[in-house]
Amino acid sequence: LLRPQIFALKYSTATEQSNQHSKPSRAPLLIGGKFVESQAAESIDVLNPATQEVVSRVPLTTKEEFKAAVSAAKQAFPSWRNTPVTTRQRVMFKLQELIRRDMDKLALNITTEQGKTLKDAQGDVFRGLEVVEHVCGMGTLQMGEFVSNVSHGIDTYSVREPLGVCAGICPFNFPAMIPLWMFPVAITSGNTFILKPSEKDPGASVMLAELAMEAGLPDGVLNIVHGTNDIVNAICDDDEIRAISFVGSNNAGMHIYSRGSANGKRVQSNMGAKNHAIVMPDANIDATANALIAAGFGAAGQRCMALSTVVFVGDLKTWENKLAERAKALKVNSGTAPDADLGPVISKQAKERICNLIQSGVESGGRLVLDGRNIVVPGYENGNFVGPTILSDVTPDMDCYKEEIFGPVLLCMQADSLEEAINIVNKNKYGNGASIFTSSGAAARKFQTEIEAGQVGINVPIPVPLPFFSFTGSKASFAGDLNFYGKAGVQFYTQLKTVTQQWKDLPSGVSLAMPTSQ
Ligand code: NAD
Repeated sequence: LLRPQIFALKYSTATEQSNQHSKPSRAPLLIGGKFVESQAAESIDVLNPATQEVVSRVPLTTKEEFKAAVSAAKQAFPSWRNTPVTTRQRVMFKLQELIRRDMDKLALNITTEQGKTLKDAQGDVFRGLEVVEHVCGMGTLQMGEFVSNVSHGIDTYSVREPLGVCAGICPFNFPAMIPLWMFPVAITSGNTFILKPSEKDPGASVMLAELAMEAGLPDGVLNIVHGTNDIVNAICDDDEIRAISFVGSNNAGMHIYSRGSANGKRVQSNMGAKNHAIVMPDANIDATANALIAAGFGAAGQRCMALSTVVFVGDLKTWENKLAERAKALKVNSGTAPDADLGPVISKQAKERICNLIQSGVESGGRLVLDGRNIVVPGYENGNFVGPTILSDVTPDMDCYKEEIFGPVLLCMQADSLEEAINIVNKNKYGNGASIFTSSGAAARKFQTEIEAGQVGINVPIPVPLPFFSFTGSKASFAGDLNFYGKAGVQFYTQLKTVTQQWKDLPSGVSLAMPTSQ
């Protein structure tokens, strides 16, 4: 079925070389331990968002190739699940070392395919690397429970067993961190995995898989398929796949959640966001303004934890001026430029959508404090750049407020009290994260108790939890019941088995009464 052309060159090196010469290479599939070129007739171009150059191409994996990937994962499962957890951990110890070694290459690939600045791309890799480090302790994370002598001579214990073949479907905005939220947890707990990277920036996933193979991962434990809707639907429908991790938009996420669940799979689905900050009049002015700028405009607003809306309690004007001063000073440039604060957005369509939402905000009564729509970056005139934009006097009925913008746009709103501000936030359908900036413990405590959001920040703008906790979006930002990574992540990829054992001199006689503890 598969052309036996194994990628002798590393994908990163192959991409560099093909860019220097003629036709960009196609991202390889990884099936049964081999990087192979897809036989698919169709592929999608991966464009550098700063230049529109074709960086690589993504094949639309054929049905046969998909089946081969699932079959490889199924075959690899029995031996991998029986591999001692210490051995599985050692592969992760090695992987974290290799990711550190190749950090710069990974970051450059992310900047080239996704657009974010090199420094931000390193952060993308680093936040995923932390998950790899965490799963090096899988023996403890996966530990079961034991109660001795639940009845005379009888003990009960539970063990967490892997599910089998699991799959992950990724978004474009964190090409390294999000695959690393998924496969390290799944495979170190004994599962095998099918990864479907974003078709917009598949390179980091392929490079991470190369590193996992170099770290000693047995063939078939991690597999990669590429494509869009059809391959995603094939994942949702395949009988061998037991669980699906998804991160991306609500449209795709709810579709995958419904279709995967209807087919009897576990699904965890992290989706869109509209993260709010509430700023109290007693907040530290400089620290708060800096935090709002960083969290609103970092990664050109393309983070699921971007703070896209600020509700100021009390005066709005002083804050607006402070924010505008700082936002104007930000450097918009290609992500490879050493002084760049923010790079381009992912595509021309994304830029158009962002600009349309800004315009609709203006037409429905919003006031532009700073307009970044017409920015031109010298040397990168074809790039999808949107400069920092601040839109004020925003109200909850506006489309720019109701929809996730996913661009460098900060919406400013005003409330007369903390109560009113909390009400505004809680009425929004999304519940990924919310922050408060204040010097009052009482206000912070009220906010933490009453706010309906999965991740809460107090004087902290982007509370993406470290891997010993879990990423806990709520309301329309999450579907499922076991969150990504941390204890919940391990629970998602494992099932409990409860064992009751009896070791004693056995009594004589038969009793048909319901056994009760004696
Ligand atoms: P997207 O939903 O367009 O794509 C995500 C994945 O789903 C891709 O692999 C894509 O091929 C697939 N897909 C897209 N549409 C599909 C369809 N109709 N049927 C089947 N599969 C489909 O998302 P994106 O634009 O890549 O990522 C941005 C979104 O992700 C934003 O909404 C952002 O908030 C969200 N996000 C959420 C989190 C979180 O943890 N909550 C983290 C990162 C990104």
